[in-house]
Amino acid sequence: MDAKQELAARHEAVQRDPEGYWLQEARRLDWDSFPTKADRSSFDQADFGIRWFEDGELNVSVNCLDRHLDTSGDRTAIVFEGDEPGEGYSLSYRQVYEETCRFANALKQCGVGKGDRVAIYMPMIPEAAFAMMACARIGAIHSVVFGGFSPDSLADRIQDCGAKLLVTADEGVRGGKRIPLKANADKALAKAPCEAVIMVRRTGGEVNFVEGRDRWWHDLRASVPAECLPERMNAEDPLFILYTSGSTGKPKGVMHTTGGYLLWVAATFDMLFGAKEDDVFWCTADVGWVTGHSYVVYGPLANGATTVMFDGVPSYPDFGRFWETSNRLGVTIFYTAPTAIRALMREGKDWVQRHDRSQLRLLGTVGEPINPEAWNWYHDVVGEGRCEIVDTWWQTETGGALIAPVPGVTKTKPGSATKPLPGVFPALVDNEGALLEGSTEGNLVLTQSWPGQMRGVWGDPNRFFQTYFTTYPGRYFTGDGCRRDEDDYYWITGRVDDVINVSGHRMGTAEVESALVAHPKVAEAAVVGMPHDVKGQGIYAFVTLNAGEPESEDLRQELRQFVRTEIGPIASPDAIQFASALPKTRSGKIMRRILRKIAEGESDKVGDTSTLAEPAVVEALIAGAVAG
Ligand code: ATP
Ligand code: MG
Repeated sequence: MDAKQELAARHEAVQRDPEGYWLQEARRLDWDSFPTKADRSSFDQADFGIRWFEDGELNVSVNCLDRHLDTSGDRTAIVFEGDEPGEGYSLSYRQVYEETCRFANALKQCGVGKGDRVAIYMPMIPEAAFAMMACARIGAIHSVVFGGFSPDSLADRIQDCGAKLLVTADEGVRGGKRIPLKANADKALAKAPCEAVIMVRRTGGEVNFVEGRDRWWHDLRASVPAECLPERMNAEDPLFILYTSGSTGKPKGVMHTTGGYLLWVAATFDMLFGAKEDDVFWCTADVGWVTGHSYVVYGPLANGATTVMFDGVPSYPDFGRFWETSNRLGVTIFYTAPTAIRALMREGKDWVQRHDRSQLRLLGTVGEPINPEAWNWYHDVVGEGRCEIVDTWWQTETGGALIAPVPGVTKTKPGSATKPLPGVFPALVDNEGALLEGSTEGNLVLTQSWPGQMRGVWGDPNRFFQTYFTTYPGRYFTGDGCRRDEDDYYWITGRVDDVINVSGHRMGTAEVESALVAHPKVAEAAVVGMPHDVKGQGIYAFVTLNAGEPESEDLRQELRQFVRTEIGPIASPDAIQFASALPKTRSGKIMRRILRKIAEGESDKVGDTSTLAEPAVVEALIAGAVAG
């Protein structure tokens, strides 16, 4: 069977005999006790619950490490690349296995057992992955908190999940600057105490040490064996809790379990990136986000692939970092976010072209709708027209990718995540929940469960059902708007809450933003609705220009005209504010709810900004607000 036939066969099999299909898929993993049941989920209130492989038993760390030792113990599992180019090293599967076992023993020595929660507040160093898999090995539940978060954000998350132990480092290093992780952790722990702390030495910087609570990883490491018997886990035992990005409101503590999650990330990693023995896979996401969980750690390692952990930023020491490092490490598959692509695009293609990229073969993207302009630049400039673009739509809640092209099979269209993967059943509904057929636009829902679906909001059983299953009863509501074209391709148009209604015409943010970004002088754009006497809502656009491009009233007029020709008069912005930066979450997503408040003249009501990367950006935007 070729790839095309195989994909078609999967789609057919999962429709015809889902139970049989999933039990067959489950063979991707090593089980202590193979499941006899696959999907036992229900989206209905009466018997609500998401359950997969519920009588199966397995251990995630065994699947990511032990089972590769016989055949590939010497193969590189993790390539670490530090903040300074070339500051790094590689670890084989055997080394990662031993370090993970040691870490698991260290956790045990600190009193952590099955079901306990462990918070992980770390740089992007291999010890973060050891800590995650060590939790999995002993049945503890990890909750990784992005190392860029403030003490308050960390304290909230420690408190919410009731962490017994915190894993952190003395300091992190990003873009040449030191980040006081332990000092932040100490502040957080003053508000939300943990019984114990394990601290990894990263920089050797000066830190506070609390006797009886704090332990150095290198001390513990020297005192424990490099073997640790894995805990036998039920498929539905929790694996981790992870808070969403907070683009639309207060972050939710998303809970994922053992069997279904691992199967989903293993299967999707294989289908989308198909890493072979000599591939080097680099996903630039931080382990503090779901992308880092699924496609830096669990997906690649479950497949025995080589994964890069990068502890730096795309702009340090210069804007060529991604391509210099890709070339040096022999990266063949590269996966990043639209925000990074747009930021690099803004600096011009010279930074890309001065590095050899001939070893790259696949380019992935995730996190936001990718504007066609950015897609084309990624494809033509970075990929030299040779690499396929894998645009993957998914959410923290979905565990792994749901809508994405399968390389070599799915024909791509710039700006579309294309089609659902086998076992994913998307549908579009109108605001009353009626199913929409054919080429149309509506609210994106999923009509059936898939193994990687989240199982609950930690500590709040009702919130899961309330948040996702009550808007359109019997269906999982994603919160995203979407268009389906005549070829059944899906185009995410943005968050449904961000839809703008101009004189009765509903418009997604992605479409107008993409039109603006298509202008040669524009680097990035965010549009929101603003009150308008005549139209009900008008369009307010925040526009970031390319490096060195001057702002002017003429350019404003030119941009209005440009959108008018690209989409139509209805989409022409009523107000355009030039902005040197946009408010983004720490994972790089534009936070439109803040922009909406500014456009509405209610900048005092911006709400939860704890997940914002640079709070100062908001002040500048408020000061520069324009009248419609
Ligand atoms: P919160 O739920 O706290 O508001 P968030 O939705 O940004 O935060 P994530 O789970 O990180 O948290 O992001 C998922 C969302 O990101 C999706 O619902 C979608 O809006 C957007 N997204 C992710 N990938 C893509 C993609 N390839 N194309 C379009 N949109 C995407
Ligand atoms: Mg969300």
